[in-house]
Amino acid sequence: MGKPRGFLEIRRSKNDYRPIEERVHDYHEFELPLPDDKLREQAARCMDCGIPFCHQGCPLGNLIPDWNDLVLTGRWEDASQALHATNNFPEVTGRVCPAPCEASCVLNLETIPNADASGDAGRHPPGAVTIKQIERQIADRAFDDERVRPQRAPIRTGRKVAVIGSGPAGLAAAQQLARKGHDVTVFEKDDRIGGLLRYGIPDFKMEKGLLDRRLDQLRAEGVSFRTGVHVGQAVTGPQLRAQFDAIVLTGGALVPRDLPVEGRALKGVHFAMEFLVQQNRRVAGDVIPEQESILATGKHVVILGGGDTGSDCVGTSHRHGAASVTSFELMPRPPEHRVPQNPWPEWPFVYRTSSSHEEGGVREFGVMTKRLLGDPDGNLRALEAVRVGLENGKLVEQPGSAFEIPCDLLLLAMGFTGSPRAGLLEQLGVEMDARTNVKADDFATSVEGVFAAGDMRRGQSLVVWAIAEGRKAAERVHAYLATASARVA
Ligand SMILES: Cc1cc2nc3c(=O)[nH]c(=O)nc-3n(C[C@H](O)[C@H](O)[C@H](O)COP(=O)(O)OP(=O)(O)OC[C@H]3O[C@@H](n4cnc5c(N)ncnc54)[C@H](O)[C@@H]3O)c2cc1C
Ligand code: SF4
Repeated sequence: MGKPRGFLEIRRSKNDYRPIEERVHDYHEFELPLPDDKLREQAARCMDCGIPFCHQGCPLGNLIPDWNDLVLTGRWEDASQALHATNNFPEVTGRVCPAPCEASCVLNLETIPNADASGDAGRHPPGAVTIKQIERQIADRAFDDERVRPQRAPIRTGRKVAVIGSGPAGLAAAQQLARKGHDVTVFEKDDRIGGLLRYGIPDFKMEKGLLDRRLDQLRAEGVSFRTGVHVGQAVTGPQLRAQFDAIVLTGGALVPRDLPVEGRALKGVHFAMEFLVQQNRRVAGDVIPEQESILATGKHVVILGGGDTGSDCVGTSHRHGAASVTSFELMPRPPEHRVPQNPWPEWPFVYRTSSSHEEGGVREFGVMTKRLLGDPDGNLRALEAVRVGLENGKLVEQPGSAFEIPCDLLLLAMGFTGSPRAGLLEQLGVEMDARTNVKADDFATSVEGVFAAGDMRRGQSLVVWAIAEGRKAAERVHAYLATASARVA
């Protein structure tokens, strides 16, 4: 254990964010690292509990008390090894993970409002060890000190695996399988590798250079990447089955939920991902043709949906220089603190404020869009809505609550409804579940030699879950390849 009684003597202290007035003018990351002495002090707060609930909170089962102690005692190389033993991309989760580990930290057992030394209660569990920050800084330091080296397999098996989709699930599966000596090819329909790490999550949350340096490690370990190949179109599922011993489906769950109301076809209504992908491309140096460009500059922006996607639209709209940014969420505002039915160490369903929300704009809950209003040229000009409340589990309109707000850019960020069946999944003949995800209990689909992981299996989720699923699927594939029936064709 680190420092006995450290948790009693030292208060939680979060790292700083760049000032809002500065960060809204660029796309660089908003979070700043903690100085080393402060980070070690924070690591000293870990109690090394008999039963570390943070392990269960983290879908990867990260060895959190171990690396907290190694940071406290300055053993950075060992800390990096302990961290990488369970997590392929800690520099990513250390930035974008909502940190369910912190929610289940024993120091978070008692929630004390405003107990956070940095005054950011509500944004993070007030008492928990700053696990995510420590994770990020171990990973960053490992890269800075050139300790992240390729782990090449000592023996090649000659077995060939195709991974379809290069998000965190596909990349984690590919890396694990390459390290077992298999020949892994990742197919990606986009022009760059990374899935939502590349084209969903904005640079202000995670700069893409981090992804590129990690991809260099995968390449050096023998993973091949083929971009611009839409499997199901450019090459069919059966063709791949004939060429590879196993296939891992990690294509994500990117079918967006639509808004079937009057006015949906007006100019100025877009899915959030159309907007976010474009901005990620601009930051990467691509030029978006003017007629296709979706910009919030000078516009009254309304965002429907309050999750990560909605929040990323808020932050991007601020950076574009929107005239106003309003977020509407259909469901009522969550409570400030845990309710008794949602006890520790469960993930707390409470009101949260993201860095993008802190940057400005209006957030309203319990708002249902009724219709969209346009001008004579077919451009969106306003949104008409009503207020709703929950009664006996049903959303009920409040009489006389109808209102209209000016809106010339509407971004739909209301979640995703699974994976498209047409194309690859149909060609392979894999079974789907009731939520239009690929059915793959224990990661094996209904078709021999075909596996699935990440959002494509569990529905739109989190990066940490995608990595965890990619790793588990790789274990299953490796075991399958050891069997006599491993030839798929
Ligand atoms: C805007 C946004 C912000 C988010 N922010 C966060 C966050 O801050 N923290 C967090 O933890 N999670 C966040 N998430 C969720 C997280 O990004 C996903 O859960 C995660 O990326 C899923 O990983 P995946 O590998 O399963 O799929 P994806 O990342 O979706 O990758 C799937 C890839 O497969 C490719 N593909 C699909 N079909 C084919 C095909 N037929 N042939 C070839 N390639 C194909 C796609 O082009 C894509 O590149 C966010 C999601 C969105 C949409
Ligand atoms: S990956 Fe997420 S849940 Fe796991 S230790 Fe890191 S921040 Fe916590």
